[in-house]
Amino acid sequence: MYYGVIKKNDIANGPGVRVNLFVSGCTHKCEDCFNADTWAFDYGFEYTEKQTKEILDALAPEYVAGITFLGGEPMEPASRGTVLELSRQIKTLYPYKTIWIYSGYLVEELLARAGIWTPDRVPTYDQVPRNRVLPDYNPAADHEALSELIRLTDVIVDGEFMKEKKNLRLKFRGSENQRIIDIPSTLKEGTIILADYKDRA
Ligand code: SF4
Repeated sequence: MYYGVIKKNDIANGPGVRVNLFVSGCTHKCEDCFNADTWAFDYGFEYTEKQTKEILDALAPEYVAGITFLGGEPMEPASRGTVLELSRQIKTLYPYKTIWIYSGYLVEELLARAGIWTPDRVPTYDQVPRNRVLPDYNPAADHEALSELIRLTDVIVDGEFMKEKKNLRLKFRGSENQRIIDIPSTLKEGTIILADYKDRA
């Protein structure tokens, strides 16, 4: 996996002070994407054990609330393995720090790909026009690693950026179609549960 930048002490992408890892590679290609340089899977720098240590060290202070993965698309199959391995180490070392992931995929699609929900629960193109709906759905390829990664994650901010739904007042998201989803509650209740973050007035 390649990455663009590691930010420490960020306060824009999730609650509290956070470490941000901007992974490289994204196939969504949203119009007016804020970070189009990172669409290329070889953008930036190669991710190695050195970056894992740097991130784990940056997470150590008590005032750091957790990590946010964004990009790029952290849930692309090419990036997912590295994101999973780092998430495992974070939750082992710092079980109370939170993991947020920004993904252009819908949570329903990710859960279907992970074999947790069935594909018929993925909204249709009519409801969410620019999001992908399982074009290459292959349960066997995805289940295990994706399922583990989702279960380690506290929040997924989902959906592609839609320029016609852009709203600068939104908290922790760029366009109104995107949702801040509480993953443990969603898994427990079997339905999408939004995390409670108020937008700016
Ligand atoms: S999913 Fe994010 S990084 Fe990818 S094109 Fe859309 S806004 Fe850009």
